[in-house]
Amino acid sequence: MRILVVEDEKKVASFIQRGLESEGFQVDVAADGEEGVSLAKGNPYDLILMDVMLPKMDGLTAIRELRAAHITTPVLCLTAKDTVEDIVAGLDSGSDDYLTKPFAFAELLARVRALVRRGSRERGADITYADLRLDPVAHKVWRAGKEVDLTAKEYALLEYFIRNPEKTLTRNMIAEHVWDYTFDSFTNIIDVYVNYLRKKIDRDFTTKLVHTVRGVGYMLKAE
Ligand code: CA
Repeated sequence: MRILVVEDEKKVASFIQRGLESEGFQVDVAADGEEGVSLAKGNPYDLILMDVMLPKMDGLTAIRELRAAHITTPVLCLTAKDTVEDIVAGLDSGSDDYLTKPFAFAELLARVRALVRRGSRERGADITYADLRLDPVAHKVWRAGKEVDLTAKEYALLEYFIRNPEKTLTRNMIAEHVWDYTFDSFTNIIDVYVNYLRKKIDRDFTTKLVHTVRGVGYMLKAE
Protein backbone atom coordinates (compact mmCIF):
# COMPACT_ATOMS: atom_id res chain seq x y z
CA MET A 1 0.00 0.00 0.00
CA ARG A 2 1.47 3.28 -1.12
CA ILE A 3 0.40 6.61 0.36
CA LEU A 4 1.14 10.17 -0.71
CA VAL A 5 1.31 12.78 2.06
CA VAL A 6 0.97 16.39 0.87
CA GLU A 7 1.95 18.52 3.84
CA ASP A 8 4.16 21.62 4.07
CA GLU A 9 4.81 21.51 7.83
CA LYS A 10 7.93 19.38 8.00
CA LYS A 11 7.28 18.18 11.57
CA VAL A 12 3.73 17.07 10.80
CA ALA A 13 4.82 15.42 7.55
CA SER A 14 7.58 13.42 9.20
CA PHE A 15 5.33 12.45 12.13
CA ILE A 16 2.78 11.04 9.68
CA GLN A 17 5.43 9.43 7.49
CA ARG A 18 7.23 7.68 10.37
CA GLY A 19 3.94 6.48 11.86
CA LEU A 20 2.56 5.09 8.61
CA GLU A 21 5.87 3.48 7.64
CA SER A 22 6.00 1.69 10.97
CA GLU A 23 2.54 0.32 10.11
CA GLY A 24 3.93 -1.10 6.87
CA PHE A 25 2.78 1.57 4.41
CA GLN A 26 5.09 3.00 1.75
CA VAL A 27 5.01 6.79 2.08
CA ASP A 28 6.00 9.64 -0.25
CA VAL A 29 5.88 13.26 0.92
CA ALA A 30 5.20 16.37 -1.16
CA ALA A 31 5.75 19.80 0.43
CA ASP A 32 3.35 21.86 -1.70
CA GLY A 33 0.19 21.46 -3.77
CA GLU A 34 1.91 21.51 -7.15
CA GLU A 35 4.39 18.82 -6.17
CA GLY A 36 1.51 16.80 -4.72
CA VAL A 37 -0.48 16.96 -7.94
CA SER A 38 2.51 16.04 -10.04
CA LEU A 39 3.41 13.04 -7.83
CA ALA A 40 -0.21 11.88 -7.72
CA LYS A 41 -0.51 12.11 -11.50
CA GLY A 42 2.69 10.18 -12.04
CA ASN A 43 2.33 7.39 -9.48
CA PRO A 44 -0.44 4.96 -8.60
CA TYR A 45 -1.17 5.67 -4.93
CA ASP A 46 -3.68 3.78 -2.80
CA LEU A 47 -4.45 6.90 -0.74
CA ILE A 48 -3.58 10.60 -0.61
CA LEU A 49 -3.42 12.63 2.62
CA MET A 50 -3.92 16.26 1.62
CA ASP A 51 -3.35 19.25 3.87
CA VAL A 52 -5.66 22.17 2.95
CA MET A 53 -3.35 25.14 3.57
CA LEU A 54 -0.41 24.57 1.23
CA PRO A 55 2.04 26.79 -0.63
CA LYS A 56 1.87 27.16 -4.44
CA MET A 57 -1.53 25.44 -4.73
CA ASP A 58 -3.99 24.89 -1.87
CA GLY A 59 -5.17 21.38 -1.06
CA LEU A 60 -8.76 21.79 -2.30
CA THR A 61 -7.58 23.10 -5.68
CA ALA A 62 -5.12 20.22 -5.84
CA ILE A 63 -7.91 17.67 -5.20
CA ARG A 64 -10.10 19.32 -7.87
CA GLU A 65 -7.23 19.15 -10.32
CA LEU A 66 -6.68 15.45 -9.62
CA ARG A 67 -10.38 14.62 -9.99
CA ALA A 68 -10.49 16.60 -13.26
CA ALA A 69 -7.59 14.42 -14.45
CA HIS A 70 -9.70 11.32 -13.60
CA ILE A 71 -7.48 10.30 -10.70
CA THR A 72 -9.88 8.48 -8.39
CA THR A 73 -7.44 7.68 -5.54
CA PRO A 74 -9.22 8.21 -2.19
CA VAL A 75 -8.23 11.50 -0.52
CA LEU A 76 -8.21 12.21 3.21
CA CYS A 77 -8.21 15.96 3.79
CA LEU A 78 -6.29 17.41 6.74
CA THR A 79 -7.87 20.68 7.83
CA ALA A 80 -6.81 23.15 10.49
CA LYS A 81 -10.34 24.41 11.05
CA ASP A 82 -13.38 22.42 11.96
CA THR A 83 -16.05 24.67 10.51
CA VAL A 84 -18.94 23.30 8.49
CA GLU A 85 -17.97 25.53 5.55
CA ASP A 86 -14.47 24.04 5.41
CA ILE A 87 -15.70 20.48 5.61
CA VAL A 88 -18.33 21.03 2.91
CA ALA A 89 -15.74 22.73 0.69
CA GLY A 90 -13.42 19.76 1.17
CA LEU A 91 -16.05 17.19 0.32
CA ASP A 92 -17.24 19.27 -2.66
CA SER A 93 -13.74 19.36 -4.04
CA GLY A 94 -13.72 15.56 -4.20
CA SER A 95 -12.08 14.50 -0.95
CA ASP A 96 -13.45 11.32 0.66
CA ASP A 97 -12.97 12.15 4.32
CA TYR A 98 -11.41 14.81 6.52
CA LEU A 99 -9.51 15.02 9.77
CA THR A 100 -9.11 18.16 11.88
CA LYS A 101 -5.65 19.17 13.11
CA PRO A 102 -4.27 18.48 15.64
CA PHE A 103 -5.13 14.78 15.57
CA ALA A 104 -3.89 11.69 17.36
CA PHE A 105 -2.00 9.24 15.17
CA ALA A 106 -4.39 6.42 16.12
CA GLU A 107 -7.28 8.48 14.71
CA LEU A 108 -5.40 9.10 11.47
CA LEU A 109 -4.52 5.43 11.17
CA ALA A 110 -8.16 4.39 11.66
CA ARG A 111 -9.28 6.78 8.86
CA VAL A 112 -6.46 5.62 6.59
CA ARG A 113 -7.36 1.96 7.08
CA ALA A 114 -11.06 2.62 6.44
CA LEU A 115 -10.36 4.49 3.19
CA VAL A 116 -7.88 1.93 1.94
CA ARG A 117 -10.41 -0.87 2.68
CA ARG A 118 -13.18 1.03 0.92
CA GLY A 119 -10.87 1.64 -2.02
CA SER A 120 -10.12 -2.05 -2.41
CA ARG A 121 -13.81 -2.99 -2.12
CA GLU A 122 -14.68 -0.55 -4.86
CA ARG A 123 -11.95 -2.11 -6.90
CA GLY A 124 -14.08 -5.28 -6.98
CA ALA A 125 -16.03 -4.17 -10.08
CA ASP A 126 -14.93 -5.27 -13.56
CA ILE A 127 -12.28 -3.05 -15.08
CA THR A 128 -12.30 -2.37 -18.80
CA TYR A 129 -9.92 -0.77 -21.23
CA ALA A 130 -10.55 -0.77 -25.00
CA ASP A 131 -11.90 -4.29 -25.71
CA LEU A 132 -10.17 -5.74 -22.67
CA ARG A 133 -12.20 -6.68 -19.59
CA LEU A 134 -10.84 -7.89 -16.28
CA ASP A 135 -12.69 -9.34 -13.30
CA PRO A 136 -10.48 -8.58 -10.27
CA VAL A 137 -12.40 -10.92 -7.97
CA ALA A 138 -12.37 -14.04 -10.15
CA HIS A 139 -9.02 -13.06 -11.77
CA LYS A 140 -10.50 -13.59 -15.23
CA VAL A 141 -9.69 -11.69 -18.39
CA TRP A 142 -11.49 -11.28 -21.71
CA ARG A 143 -10.34 -9.63 -24.90
CA ALA A 144 -13.09 -8.85 -27.45
CA GLY A 145 -15.45 -11.03 -25.42
CA LYS A 146 -13.19 -14.10 -25.53
CA GLU A 147 -11.67 -15.38 -22.30
CA VAL A 148 -7.87 -15.30 -22.11
CA ASP A 149 -6.13 -17.84 -19.90
CA LEU A 150 -3.38 -16.17 -17.84
CA THR A 151 -1.02 -17.42 -15.14
CA ALA A 152 -1.18 -15.69 -11.73
CA LYS A 153 1.82 -13.45 -12.47
CA GLU A 154 0.61 -12.56 -15.97
CA TYR A 155 -2.74 -11.67 -14.44
CA ALA A 156 -1.12 -9.49 -11.73
CA LEU A 157 0.91 -7.71 -14.40
CA LEU A 158 -2.15 -7.08 -16.57
CA GLU A 159 -4.18 -5.87 -13.59
CA TYR A 160 -1.44 -3.33 -12.83
CA PHE A 161 -1.48 -2.20 -16.47
CA ILE A 162 -5.26 -1.89 -16.70
CA ARG A 163 -5.46 0.10 -13.44
CA ASN A 164 -2.93 2.53 -14.90
CA PRO A 165 -3.78 2.83 -18.58
CA GLU A 166 -1.98 5.23 -20.91
CA LYS A 167 0.71 5.85 -18.30
CA THR A 168 4.35 4.93 -18.67
CA LEU A 169 5.09 2.23 -16.11
CA THR A 170 8.82 1.87 -15.48
CA ARG A 171 10.36 -1.53 -14.88
CA ASN A 172 10.97 -0.42 -11.29
CA MET A 173 7.32 0.48 -10.76
CA ILE A 174 6.28 -2.87 -12.22
CA ALA A 175 8.77 -4.72 -10.02
CA GLU A 176 7.52 -2.92 -6.90
CA HIS A 177 3.84 -3.44 -7.59
CA VAL A 178 3.74 -6.87 -9.17
CA TRP A 179 6.71 -8.55 -7.51
CA ASP A 180 7.28 -6.38 -4.43
CA TYR A 181 10.97 -6.14 -5.26
CA THR A 182 13.14 -3.29 -6.45
CA PHE A 183 16.41 -4.60 -7.77
CA ASP A 184 17.81 -4.05 -11.24
CA SER A 185 18.53 -7.67 -12.12
CA PHE A 186 14.78 -8.15 -11.99
CA THR A 187 14.10 -6.16 -15.15
CA ASN A 188 14.80 -9.16 -17.45
CA ILE A 189 12.07 -11.11 -15.73
CA ILE A 190 9.64 -8.26 -16.32
CA ASP A 191 10.47 -8.21 -20.03
CA VAL A 192 9.95 -11.96 -20.21
CA TYR A 193 6.54 -11.72 -18.53
CA VAL A 194 5.48 -8.78 -20.68
CA ASN A 195 6.26 -10.90 -23.72
CA TYR A 196 4.19 -13.81 -22.37
CA LEU A 197 1.34 -11.39 -21.80
CA ARG A 198 1.63 -9.93 -25.30
CA LYS A 199 1.41 -13.40 -26.85
CA LYS A 200 -1.83 -14.00 -25.01
CA ILE A 201 -3.62 -10.68 -25.31
CA ASP A 202 -2.10 -8.97 -28.39
CA ARG A 203 -0.80 -11.53 -30.86
CA ASP A 204 -4.13 -12.29 -32.55
CA PHE A 205 -5.32 -8.68 -32.69
CA THR A 206 -4.52 -5.79 -35.02
CA THR A 207 -4.84 -3.22 -32.23
CA LYS A 208 -1.95 -3.77 -29.85
CA LEU A 209 -2.43 -2.89 -26.19
CA VAL A 210 0.97 -3.39 -24.56
CA HIS A 211 3.58 -0.97 -25.88
CA THR A 212 7.27 -0.59 -25.13
CA VAL A 213 8.38 2.85 -23.98
CA ARG A 214 11.95 2.64 -25.17
CA GLY A 215 14.56 2.75 -22.43
CA VAL A 216 11.90 3.26 -19.73
CA GLY A 217 9.27 0.57 -19.48
CA TYR A 218 5.80 -0.17 -20.82
CA MET A 219 2.40 1.38 -21.43
CA LEU A 220 -1.10 -0.02 -21.89
CA LYS A 221 -2.59 1.85 -24.82
CA ALA A 222 -4.97 0.97 -27.65
CA GLU A 223 -3.29 1.79 -30.95
CA1 CA B 1 -0.22 23.58 5.89
